[in-house]
Amino acid sequence: MKNGITPVIYYCNPNIYPREEYEIRKNECTRYAEALGLEIVDADYDHGNWLREVAGMESEPERGGRCLKCFKLRLLRTAQFAAERGIKVISTTLASSRWKSLDQINEAGRWACAEIPPDDSVIWWDQNWRKGGLQERRLQILKEYDFYNQLYCGCEFSIRKDDQNTGE
Ligand code: SF4
Repeated sequence: MKNGITPVIYYCNPNIYPREEYEIRKNECTRYAEALGLEIVDADYDHGNWLREVAGMESEPERGGRCLKCFKLRLLRTAQFAAERGIKVISTTLASSRWKSLDQINEAGRWACAEIPPDDSVIWWDQNWRKGGLQERRLQILKEYDFYNQLYCGCEFSIRKDDQNTGE
């Protein structure tokens, strides 16, 4: 792989509702992983547990407390998976979306890595994936692979009545 890095994709999205949407997005991710010859690991889809974790924050706006909790939950599981596999650095595609708070994502990523015992330490890669031509590269890939265009972030609380697309 380029730059001596061989990524492993950890698909951890118990936030996505309904299940059909989860499968559509997972299949798109799998299609891309296969095209690049990358491993993709599907974390289990426990939406019931995710709902319990964000209970009381259902009405929060996007970029609010529910989203921080959602990032923490998913990035902690990612960090734990990385530690189990001996993977030293993690990042997330969440950080490439202009709809998400980069500060919240970095806070959650750092917190998740700090939860891992020092012997298995995992580093949070706080690369800004929206700068230095990376946003343009992202759009190029979306077009090249004709990716499914998601219409909302993922959870049932992010499904909007209007047409605003916060999914990408
Ligand atoms: S809006 Fe998106 S980031 Fe926020 S809680 Fe829902 S799925 Fe998670």
